[in-house]
Amino acid sequence: MIQYSDDIKEEVRSANDIVDVISQYVTLKRSGRNYFGLCPFHSEKSPSFSVSPDRQYFHCFGCHKGGDVFTFVSEIERISFKEALEMLAEKARIELPTIENSEYSKNTALKSQMYKINIETATFFHERLYKPFAKIAQEYVKKRKLDNRTLKAFKIGYSGEYNELYKHLKTLGFKDEEIIATGLVYKNDRGDYIDRFRKRLMFPIMNTSGKVIAFGGRKLEDNEKIAKYINSNENLVYSKKKNLFALNLAKQSQKENIVLVEGYMDAISLYQRGFDNVVASLGTALTDDQARLLRKYSKQIILSYDSDGAGQDAILRGLTILEKQGCDARVLQMENAKDPDEYVIKYGSGRFQILIDNAISLVEFKIKMAKNKYNLDNANDKINFLKEITQILSSVDNNIEREIYIDKVSKQYGISKEAVYAEVNKGKTYFSSNPEVKPIQKSIKKTKIDSAICKRENLIIYLLINNYQESFKPISQNIKVDDFKSDENKLIYKTIIDSNVNSNEEILQIISNIESQEIQSHVSEILVSDYGIKSVKKGIEDIVNIYEKEHLNERKTEIIKELEKKHTNEELESLGQELNEIIVKLTKIK
Ligand SMILES: [Zn+2]
Repeated sequence: MIQYSDDIKEEVRSANDIVDVISQYVTLKRSGRNYFGLCPFHSEKSPSFSVSPDRQYFHCFGCHKGGDVFTFVSEIERISFKEALEMLAEKARIELPTIENSEYSKNTALKSQMYKINIETATFFHERLYKPFAKIAQEYVKKRKLDNRTLKAFKIGYSGEYNELYKHLKTLGFKDEEIIATGLVYKNDRGDYIDRFRKRLMFPIMNTSGKVIAFGGRKLEDNEKIAKYINSNENLVYSKKKNLFALNLAKQSQKENIVLVEGYMDAISLYQRGFDNVVASLGTALTDDQARLLRKYSKQIILSYDSDGAGQDAILRGLTILEKQGCDARVLQMENAKDPDEYVIKYGSGRFQILIDNAISLVEFKIKMAKNKYNLDNANDKINFLKEITQILSSVDNNIEREIYIDKVSKQYGISKEAVYAEVNKGKTYFSSNPEVKPIQKSIKKTKIDSAICKRENLIIYLLINNYQESFKPISQNIKVDDFKSDENKLIYKTIIDSNVNSNEEILQIISNIESQEIQSHVSEILVSDYGIKSVKKGIEDIVNIYEKEHLNERKTEIIKELEKKHTNEELESLGQELNEIIVKLTKIK
């Protein structure tokens, strides 16, 4: 009997998007960040079943079932967790280890050798960059104004001339077939082993866990005949459609969005100038897999494509793919520079940040594109423009969002709101958009804990899962495990405090592994609920204050009780002093 490892579970989990899987059983409709539908586990007329694409969890507010994709499949198919995992692995064509299946372990062994070769290669190239013979590469990085910290962060390097890498790898003891498998070396017609990347500036490509999986190489010589950029071919450990350059760094960023650029150099140059939240697509148009990957790390994705390169269609396509995956997709409007690298060097980080802050949504982008076709001083053109934006606006499901756009359009293009409404009223499409689906929150009392306290505790867990970096320290310093009244929250909190994690994803992974249906449905409820947090910092502060106040009040009561007993003068004085301090502290807490 095979016990599947946590790695396998994680691989299968991330290969099966919960929205895709559940959609095969339930009709889901998006509203805001989440999806809603009629619960398949209990009979109902209005939807209380909710799915969070961000957190990959589902929850029913009616019958309180909830959990991750494995829980869903095992519940709906009435199969065990293990069977659910096997079913989902098959769907995603992931080969699970079996006793007979030696191919699996063979591949695993080869993969692990390939990772080793890749990291050795990255180090080899990187060290060469600093050698005297790498003058051409050194001059190039100097010209591109890359500093040493950046060269180190990205492990930028310089490749050899003929088969230096091959020889180096052989001295390290790697086998020919392992080296060939990475694509770093090929065998020519005469049977010689030749390096694929020669005399190029090398950019290692890493996956989200920071393992080197491939390389990109830029030519340095002034030679028209060779390609400007070449990349590793796809292989056992590398798929260009499923990875993004620099995501390993961007996923650690504290910034609230991720900026997607086209070239390695754009990502690197922006990183050096303080934007650690930039990733580059690997020479392909954005794919669904990449969009899904991005959404895992950030809700808001900002496209920053070259002004001349990609063109409107690529932007439109990119935004659409991102929105489909539930991202808040925006596009950055850049003028007077051909790419982000040029822009940030020319105008500085401050100006680039303003561009990020002013990035526009898909709807705004479509309206802008429509606007470019017409001359709004011409009455006929204005009517046609109005018609076109009505079409665009009718695709916006959310009423409030649509109102905001109408407001913006009327201000920006000097068209009266009434005119927009009148046009919109003519087009029936506007009204046929579905009414907003709201989950019905039924209150089923599980334990007799005050609902306000429960909500507050849920919020703590929510903050820890979603904003770990900001919240862990202040919360863990001020809130004790025993402060929790709900058993579920207490256990979850203890699990988080006891574990040694350092990212949102890891927390969620650890919680996902708590084997209790009650905990899982409780977590899912927390994750799909909306707490209306406007500022994370303020939210954390408020919650910490509540507990601090409670602790102080508890101690105050204790002291007052204590004072009634007999004491020496010294004791009385020290208690009195403590009481005073508490009272001062209490008045300071808002
Ligand atoms: Zn239900």
